[in-house]
Formats: sequence, structure tokens, C-alpha cells
Amino acid sequence: MYLIRGERLGLIDTGVASTPAEYIEPALRSMGLSLRDVEVVINSHGHHDHAGGNDAVHRAAQCEIWIHRDDAPIARDPDAAFDLFFARNLSLVGRASRLEQARVAHRVTAGQPAPIARELVDGDVLDFGRGIAFRVVHTPGHTRGCITLHWEAEGIAISEDSALGRGSRPGGMPLIFYPDLYRSSLQRIEGLRPRVLCLGHHYLTLRQTRESIRYGDLVAAFLRESAEIQEHIEAAMDRALLALGTGAPFEQLARGALRHLEEEMDLAAGPDGWPNGAIGALSSAWAARTGALIAGH
Ligand SMILES: [Zn+2]
Repeated sequence: MYLIRGERLGLIDTGVASTPAEYIEPALRSMGLSLRDVEVVINSHGHHDHAGGNDAVHRAAQCEIWIHRDDAPIARDPDAAFDLFFARNLSLVGRASRLEQARVAHRVTAGQPAPIARELVDGDVLDFGRGIAFRVVHTPGHTRGCITLHWEAEGIAISEDSALGRGSRPGGMPLIFYPDLYRSSLQRIEGLRPRVLCLGHHYLTLRQTRESIRYGDLVAAFLRESAEIQEHIEAAMDRALLALGTGAPFEQLARGALRHLEEEMDLAAGPDGWPNGAIGALSSAWAARTGALIAGH
């Protein structure tokens, strides 16, 4: 999360439902502020770990909530977000029996939806006063409505989850849900030539250290590595498709792709037997190649 201290107080993202009470309020208090002072929340996208605290902040502050128009539907309906981004993963690898339990857990972190005062579009200029003005740059790929906030005068781009490196968990993979959009969004962020890139998590890469903010030359390096990792994922899926045929079941293709991918990056299976993020990233690459219809495409 990032705080904007202009004439108006802005908060970029609100974490999960418990984050405002647990982290944001204490952090604001240490600066002589309170949740009540927040005037605007900008959601970088509609996921539960970025917009889940909206309701708590809104109840405390009666603030406005702004989000890109393409992610407004998932911020308004956490169950729809669950179906779009998580339910398909469980179903694709034969774990549909865990769906309801996972849905309930998602409802807890996603919290109650809060009213959205403004739907943002590419090119909007968000002026917070004291010379702080962000331009909205639409950078979809992780979700359809991801944005990068660009403060051109200072060369600062807040991209949150628009550029993912190799994801935030060691041995995991980036949650790229729309591969074609993702690729062009990375180029678009690089084209802004920011000197500071502010991310949504402590993203890992193949060669850089794990930081949530990248500076100077490491900005373009991070963006290029993010693109390179995406290329590795697609190439691994292509090799699996070539070996096993486009009609092979997804799970078999994904296992094959992971074996190829291990040549490029270290992977570690999580508690469900898959590297974190692998099913999401591989199913998106698979759907993009085969035209398979899965939720959200
Ligand atoms: Zn996200």
C-alpha cells in the first residue's frame, strides 16, 4: 500500500479485510493521522488482497473509492472474483471438492464490497494537490482492470501487480491471467521510463534481490525479466503441447510444462503439490494457445 499526502489524503490499496485495523491505522497513527483522514482510496485492481479493506476504510472515513472500470465488477462482487481467478484453478486439476471451503476463506479476506465512487479509465489525471498528480495508465494482464499510477514529474510509477517478476513466493510462478495483455502492459510501463517502480508485493525475479520498490537501472531490468519469465512459461507450455498434443488433458500438459520450466527457474511444490501460482499461469498460457474456454477468457 502507498500513501499520498497531497492536499487530499489518498491511499493506494487497502489489503485484505483485516488490514486497515491491523496495519493501516497503526501506520497512520505513527504519522499523526488516522483512517478517518483518508479522503480517497485508489485500488490498483480488484483482487481481495488489494481491495479487501475497502469497506473498513470506507466505514471509518466515508472516503471515495476509485478503481478502473474493468475491475469495478469484481470489486463489487467478491464471489465473481473468486469464480474468475480461483475457482477455475481448483476445477482444472480435479479439486472441485475444495471449492466451497476456498470460497468461504476468500469471502473472509475479501470483506464486504464498498461503494465505488469513480470508475477510472486510461488517461485520467488524479490531482491530489501540492504538485502531486498521477496519470492512470491502464496496464491489464494480471487482471483486466489493473492500472499503473504515473507521477511523471517525479518519474514514479506505482504498478502494484501489473508487473509480477516471478511472483512473490519462492519457487512459485507469476499470476498472469491474460498473457497477451500482460506483455504489452510491461512494454507500456517501460515506455514511461520511470526512475522508481513501486510494486504490490516483494516480487522475486530470476536475478534481482527481492524488493517491493525498484530504482534506476533496476526498473527496466525488472520489467524485462518479468517479460522473460512470461516467455519461459509460454515456451514451456508450447513444448508440452508439441509433445503431448493439443487435446491432452490440462493437468498432463501442465506437469509436462513444469518439467521444461524447471530448466529455466527453480520451482517448489506447495502444499497442494503445485508451485504457487503455477496452475493460474499455465492455464492462461494453455488457454491462449489452444483457445480452450475457461472462466474469465
Ligand atoms: Zn492481484
